Amino acid sequence: MRLSRYFLPVLKENPADAQIVSHRYMLRAGMIKQQAAGIYSWLPMGFRVLKRIEEIVHQEQIRAGHIPMLMPTLQPADLWRESGRYDDYGEEMLRITDRHKRDMLYGPTNEEMITDIFRAHVGSYKDLPLTLYHVQWKFRDEIRPRFGVMRGREFYMKDGYNFDLTKEDALHAYNRHLVSYLRTYERMGLQAIPMRADSGPIGGDDTHEFLVLAATGESEVFYDSAITDLKFGDREIDYDDHAACRGVLEEFTSRYARTDETHDEAVFSQIPEERRRVARGIEVGQIFYFGTKYSEPMGAMVVNDKGERVPVHMGSHGIGVSRLVGAIIEASHDEKGIIWPEGVTPFHCGIVNLKQGDAATDAACAEIYGALTAKGLEPLYDDRDERAGAKFATMDLIGLPWRITVGPRGLAAGKVEVTSRRTGESEEMSVLAAVDRIA
Ligand code: ATP
Ligand code: MG
Ligand code: MG
Ligand code: MG
Repeated sequence: MRLSRYFLPVLKENPADAQIVSHRYMLRAGMIKQQAAGIYSWLPMGFRVLKRIEEIVHQEQIRAGHIPMLMPTLQPADLWRESGRYDDYGEEMLRITDRHKRDMLYGPTNEEMITDIFRAHVGSYKDLPLTLYHVQWKFRDEIRPRFGVMRGREFYMKDGYNFDLTKEDALHAYNRHLVSYLRTYERMGLQAIPMRADSGPIGGDDTHEFLVLAATGESEVFYDSAITDLKFGDREIDYDDHAACRGVLEEFTSRYARTDETHDEAVFSQIPEERRRVARGIEVGQIFYFGTKYSEPMGAMVVNDKGERVPVHMGSHGIGVSRLVGAIIEASHDEKGIIWPEGVTPFHCGIVNLKQGDAATDAACAEIYGALTAKGLEPLYDDRDERAGAKFATMDLIGLPWRITVGPRGLAAGKVEVTSRRTGESEEMSVLAAVDRIA
């Protein structure tokens, strides 16, 4: 992409209403525009990051054997009357009446709708196990929308639902989700720690939240610092292997890690003092096992191998896709701007032309652009007629992992400069070597 033809409305000043760094940088880097409290347009740069995060989520869900689909944002109230949640959910639910005076709502989550789909089409244990998921906009009329996309009212969420014959199988689905989430967050350059949590309005007994440690996080967390040494890394996992998935759960939940809702001071005080941590975290996902809480009242039954009709065991599993954009920035930035992890960066590298209009410099930039594109990468080429300082400031703010700087003086010696956004280190090298460094 050539910057002169792109839409990147960068702000020079710090927006007054943005209290935390991710919100400030998302506004300044032209990623989002607020349209109403907690409701945002995703401008082209923000949209790119959102889509890259979504793509990682899809890849890891599909790898775990989960099946993508799409449910609507608007739902009939009657489904929620069946589960009893229409009255329970309270003011966070946005309620709408259509022209025929039918009660509708903008879905805050989809347990009822997926259960309705299941009961319409599945009747035998032979069709289990089954896990369906979608990535779709949700609406929750949060009392205090704030921190930009971190606590929006309209937000983008992956939500998945497992259907199993037995509790044991449903707990395997739970463990499988835990593993797939560990992989998902690590690919985004994040450490998200599974913590024992409270189930809230979803209901159920078993639940873990995934938290990214950050001073600006809204949750208070208590943990044993030894847990931060755990990495899933690139180990192989067979998602059908119950023992292997349970082993990962046991490993990643073997250390004390809880949110304030489930914190137990007596247990916490048994951890050696130098390892006890009280900190803040951003909730980027949550997994639940809730058994027959929805299948029973809504009649989602299957016939088992003895010919009996039994309610299915279910769980639900969410990832805050749009919140992750902010969470990644909270975890990865400096005083100049964002530092995108390679896994989610909107463009792979920036090309800065120091003398736009100079034939040799323009040609070298075009050559680098073409070579990177041919390797399947997406560069952002700053071909505007601007001062070098302004171009560097923009590149630092938008945080692409690499910058290639091309100017007449370097070219005379056959060199361009490659700079790492994360370390700030620059190195001179030939055009070919620069392309190889990034690809
Ligand atoms: P929170 O405690 O932050 O209100 P939640 O526990 O109500 O979140 P869940 O029902 O667990 O949310 O939804 C799954 C995920 O969706 C959360 O882990 C979070 O990452 C994301 N999410 C929830 N509410 C919002 C919101 N208002 N804005 C952006 N993302 C959200
Ligand atoms: Mg909430
Ligand atoms: Mg929560
Ligand atoms: Mg939650």
